[in-house]
Parts: sequence; structure tokens; C-alpha cells
Amino acid sequence: MVIFESKQPPIELPTELTVWNWLFDSSYSPINKSPPNELAGFQNALTKERVNWADVQRYSTYISTALIKKYGLKVGETVSLFSQNTVWYPVAMFAGLRVGAKISGASPAYSVEEMTFALKTADAKFLMTTPASMEVAAASAKAAGLPQSKVFLLEGELPGYTTVQDLIRIGKSYGESGQAPAFKLHPGQKNKDVCGFLSFSSGTTGLPKAVMISHQNVIAQCLQVQQITPETQKKIMAVLPLFHITGLVHQMHLPVLLNAEVVMLPRFTMEKMLDIICEYKLSELLLVPPILIRLVRDPLVDKYDLSHVTRFSSGAAPLSEEIIQQLQKKFPQTGFKQGYGMTESCSCITAHPPEKFSYKYAHSGGAIVASTEVKIIKDDGTEGDVGEDGEVLARGPQVVMGYLNNEKATRETFDTEGWLHTGDRGAIDEEGMIHITDRIKELIKVKGIGVAPAEIEDLLLGHPNVEDVAVMSVKDDYSGELPKAYIVLKPGLEESSALGQDIIAYVKEKKVRYKWVKEVEFINEIPKSPSGKILRRVLRDKEKTGRFGM
Ligand code: AMP
Repeated sequence: MVIFESKQPPIELPTELTVWNWLFDSSYSPINKSPPNELAGFQNALTKERVNWADVQRYSTYISTALIKKYGLKVGETVSLFSQNTVWYPVAMFAGLRVGAKISGASPAYSVEEMTFALKTADAKFLMTTPASMEVAAASAKAAGLPQSKVFLLEGELPGYTTVQDLIRIGKSYGESGQAPAFKLHPGQKNKDVCGFLSFSSGTTGLPKAVMISHQNVIAQCLQVQQITPETQKKIMAVLPLFHITGLVHQMHLPVLLNAEVVMLPRFTMEKMLDIICEYKLSELLLVPPILIRLVRDPLVDKYDLSHVTRFSSGAAPLSEEIIQQLQKKFPQTGFKQGYGMTESCSCITAHPPEKFSYKYAHSGGAIVASTEVKIIKDDGTEGDVGEDGEVLARGPQVVMGYLNNEKATRETFDTEGWLHTGDRGAIDEEGMIHITDRIKELIKVKGIGVAPAEIEDLLLGHPNVEDVAVMSVKDDYSGELPKAYIVLKPGLEESSALGQDIIAYVKEKKVRYKWVKEVEFINEIPKSPSGKILRRVLRDKEKTGRFGM
């Protein structure tokens, strides 16, 4: 049997603490380790609004008390967070976690249909949002059967809605001794068995699913990443969305463990990001490939002195050789690191350790993180040795619990021996570094965010002119990948650019921007197996060669 093991010392994993206990009420907590004036926190880089860990602890306690005592939140219920980045997002998240709720994040740009699906799939009982997202939030809450009294504002004010500041006041009114007790595991219960988060991913096939992430998954991943994070890492820029697994782990939990200041940008623009990098003298930048591409290509960057930046950190999607070279050339003072993983592995399976923070290793996805094993399954079904390419399987304490209410998908993705089948192809080299070479699964990665082809296919099958459809990924210079729709028109219709534009507009109207279709190609028939499954490989080959090889 060929199993690749981590070269890092194993992590010591607390198994009986919830995330809340661990970060705010244990020997790991910065609150118990650092003097009050040295506590870092979350800050809004634009408004300068800031909460340090002690504030987070206090506010989350009040909010959770209000949710339990006044609004009837019960252990195990889901609170959905539908918001751009704000310091109140993690405060609300920790409030929910403190009393045993599950936290589910959603893209603030979702349409009503998408948000309704997210609320229903996660069985959300509470929704927290901002005025900018309220129109969609209110309509989707209604569609999912959530009363207005359970829709709260994380910031700002709107008539008829309770705000987080109201919740803080309500919670506080119960007095210090009247605070709801923090949720504790019962004797014998382990933190690996308690779900704390529901994040959306389409996995290897089909529609988006709610991934059940346990308290242990997040704790393990933070400890794994802490081990390979230099102690000097004291400021973390949070420009990536908080609802995605990268934001959840690296911008909200890990910083508390590291006592590192989180500098948040509510809405990404290149200019604002560059401003805050310079204003806060940020030295390590956690980014995704589309932003790294802009760093090397956008002339705006030349107006800024970025000589204090010492390292780029990339993840969530592949980064091309060309961009890596350009980064090194344009920013010769920098090192580079990368993480590879997925929502189902609570972020990283592999990441660069400090001794490999260099462009020499930039083409790899890093080394296996602590307490984690990797197996490569070759096309013939046998296990691959060093340098041999096949599907990447991973096993470790960060591999999640499965998909909510979806036994079948859970069984297909997580096998009985605990291996996560990633749907990615890759190989491990002699130095133990992973190289992701291809993707077997259906996923399309647009600017680092996963898009399920099946979701767009489902939508387009409802278009009056569409007889059949298959959605595939095509390369895009800036976004990395974008969806392309192969369309079979209803009998009697002639293909035309107007019909193509109409289909593109239809998707734009119903779906969030990163799911928009880049192009439409009309074909006579979607290649399918005898059982009716789309033969995506045939379409992929066509994309590469320009013709069907059937
Ligand atoms: P998500 O669940 O949205 O994080 O998507 C996970 C998928 O993104 C993985 O299964 C890979 O296909 C891709 N991915 C993540 N990180 C990398 C990386 N460093 N290099 C190449 N692909 C990546």
C-alpha cells in the first residue's frame, strides 16, 4: 500500500472542546494568554470599526443570550449569514457557535432563487444580513418560511428589523449572571461528531450540497496551519469572502488562535486593496489567482510601493506557470506559498511549510499538512507511487462529516476507511510536494469560487428554447475558468447569435455573477452514455481539439 504521510509532527488535537470553548475559554485562547492591551481583533479597514477578541467574546455572549432567551434559538439549529465582509460577521458566527447552532454562509451576491435554495438546504431558522442584501434576504426568507422576526441586521438599520446592536442590548439586559450558558459537549461526546458549519460545495458531481463541518475539523485545520505559519504573522488581510471555506478558516478562526489582527475589506476593489496593503504595511497577502493576475497585469499597481510585501499566499484554484514567473519578476523581494484543498477538507490538505516559501516550489500545491495522509489512485485503480499521477485521496482530522441530508453523495465522496475522494488529479514528488495536474470532477472554478455545472444545466433546461444542455468549464484569462453552455435547440429553431445572447441573458437574470455563462455553442446532440449521463470527457476533448472525436 502506498500512503504518503505528512512530514510535520502530528498535532495535539483537543477532542472535547467546541470551537467557542477552544478560542475563547481555554488555554489556547489569546484572551487567557495575552494582556488585554495586546489583544488583536477584527477591523474594518475603511471605517476603522474594530472589535478585539475580548469584545468578540462579550458581544457574542450577549447576542447568543438574546437569540436563546428571546428568539427561541435551539441547539443544532442553523443560522445563515448572508453578508459582505464586516466585523459583525464573525461576532454573529461566534455567537451562534457559542450556543451550539450551526453557521451557514452564503454569497452576498446570490439571487432570490439561490438564497432560497441555500436557506432551505441548510434548514436555516435564522438569517443575518445587511441593508445592501436585504431585498434578496427578505424575499428568500419569505420563500423559505422564515418570519421577519428571525431576520436580523448585522450592521445598519432598516424599519421593522432587529439589529445586532439591539441583540447586544437585549442580551446585556439579562445581567452577567443571566447569560445563556455556553453549549458543552455531553460526557463521551467528541467535537468530531458535532456539526458547527454548513458550507456549500457541489463536491464531485450534481447540485450544490451543504457540507457538514465539525468543530473538530476547524480546530484541527487551524492547528495544522498554525504549525507552518511563522510567528511574525501578526496581520492578516481579509479580502476573500467570509462565506467561503478559505475565509472561514484563514480570516476568522486562525487569526484568533494566532492573535493576529484581521484587516477586513468589505467589498473588493483593486484600488481599495492596494490602499490598505500600503496603509497597514501588510507583508503577507492571502489571495486567489484572479487577484494575483491583476497584481502582475494591472497598471494601477505601479502607482503603489509594495516593497514591504514579503510573501504571496495563493489557494482555492490553480495558478499558471506564467503568472508565477511574472510575480517573481515584478516582486523579487517576495516568497511564495500555496495551499491546496477543498471545502470537504475544511481548506488545506497540503500547504507550503516555511522552508519551502520560495518560487522554486511555487508550482506545487505544498506538502501534506500535519496528521494527514494522501493516496493517489491511478487510472487502473492501483495506488500510485512517487511521481505517479491519479485521483488524490486524503484522510485526516480536517476531512468533514459529509453532506447534510444526502447519504448517496456522502457515500460516493467519503469512503468507509475515511478517505475523501477529491475529484482532483495529482502526484506527489520526491520532496513530498503535491502537484495538481487536472480535475476529474464536474466543478468549474470561477475566481476561486466553485460553480456546479448541474445547477446551470438545471436552469437552462427551463428555458423555452432549450431542448438539452451541457455546461462545461472554459479557460479565461482573468477568472481562471468560466462556464460555457452547449445547447441543443428545440426542434424547428435555427441557431442564431440572438438566441445565444438570450440564453446568456437568462442566466444573468437568475444567477449570481460568477455563474454567468461566457459563451454558448449550439450542437445537434449532447453526447451521453446509454444511461443518460452527459459524457463530459467528450465535450472536454472537443474544447481542446475543436471537434468531436466520436
Ligand atoms: P472549494 O471547495 O470551493 O474550495 O473548491 C475546491 C477545489 O478547488 C479543489 O478540489 C480543486 O479542484 C480546486 N483547488 C483548490 N486549491 C487549489 C490549488 N492550490 N491548485 C489547484 N486547484 C485547487
